[in-house]
Amino acid sequence: MGVIMPAHPIRCRDVTSAALRARRDRARSAARSLGVDAVLVTPGPDLRYLTGYDAIAMERLTCLVLPSDGEPTLVVPELERPAALASPAADLEVAAWTETEDPVAVCAGLVGDGAARVAVADDMWAEKALRFAAALPGVEQVAAGVLLDPLRARKDAAEVEALAEAAAAIDEVHAQLGDLLRVGRTERDVAADVERAILATGHVRVDFVIVASGPNGASPHHLVSDRTLERGDTVVVDIGGTMPTGYCSDSTRTYALGRPRPQALAEYAVLQAAQQAAVEAVRPGVPAEQVDRAARDPIVEAGYGDLFVHRTGHGIGVETHEHPYLVAGNDEPLAPGMVFSVEPGIYRPGSHGARIEDIVVVTDVGVRRLNHRPHDLVEL
Ligand code: ZN
Ligand code: ZN
Ligand code: ZN
Repeated sequence: MGVIMPAHPIRCRDVTSAALRARRDRARSAARSLGVDAVLVTPGPDLRYLTGYDAIAMERLTCLVLPSDGEPTLVVPELERPAALASPAADLEVAAWTETEDPVAVCAGLVGDGAARVAVADDMWAEKALRFAAALPGVEQVAAGVLLDPLRARKDAAEVEALAEAAAAIDEVHAQLGDLLRVGRTERDVAADVERAILATGHVRVDFVIVASGPNGASPHHLVSDRTLERGDTVVVDIGGTMPTGYCSDSTRTYALGRPRPQALAEYAVLQAAQQAAVEAVRPGVPAEQVDRAARDPIVEAGYGDLFVHRTGHGIGVETHEHPYLVAGNDEPLAPGMVFSVEPGIYRPGSHGARIEDIVVVTDVGVRRLNHRPHDLVEL
């Protein structure tokens, strides 16, 4: 989901310089093992993860140059030097370029002669990746996700606590939905209140608000519309934001305005059991796809398989969607510290939909839930 509110800088509170340094060291050793000579990271989640600096992606180049053997340098526009130095990236060598200098050449110089392969951040703008390619002729480019995604997927204890704090904050917002969802209000009215609540509960950024009522609930990524809530509607509310720590929340509950249709109730009972089964399937060593199967099997057996049109979950951290993905075909074993959503849904086109989403953590022995709002379909 995209950001729908103006972005405020994330302060990356609570991430220690030692933790950031350890992440960069792990990234460098992963780079070495893949024959990557340097990692180039422009503003985005990878930059926040490695430096704690929430820079804005724009035409002027900001780029972390992380050589696999050697000290990192953060290349920034001169006018953003104060912002960089006010962030945890002040621990790094910061090289500022002036408006008449070529920052790509500065970075290429830091990569150095003799480099054979560089990794560029997955979300680097194509225009910048192409300029790097031109400035580093003969140097192969690979997507940095190959080495950064596995690191980001395994959270340390502080990251898990940051995600638990985010989950508690979004739970507080869901606790208010019983008051906000009223027959006669529009989805947009409700969403505006939800956005305020997301910020009031400690998030610094609203990342997305889905209020999908009645037939709109059958579209998993419907955001909001001017549809007025009606008696008998089920309403899928999927919301998330970013906390001052830089870590994200994401949770879905489905609400009912009065008594839903029998069909919707029957589907919801299956969905609730499927979500529970999938959470219970989570433990270290289990292939990621097995969690998807645990959610999907009961839905297929009930005859609703065609109505569950997406994977069961996604990792979450400094980005709402990141590795690992709980999807058929991903046999990657779950490992302690992985944090992801478990969010099966059943969507009946033209009529209604339902989804239940919790964030869970793989522990040393099993699973820990981070969201704690009740799962029952509450009639409002
Ligand atoms: Zn989604
Ligand atoms: Zn999600
Ligand atoms: Zn969600």
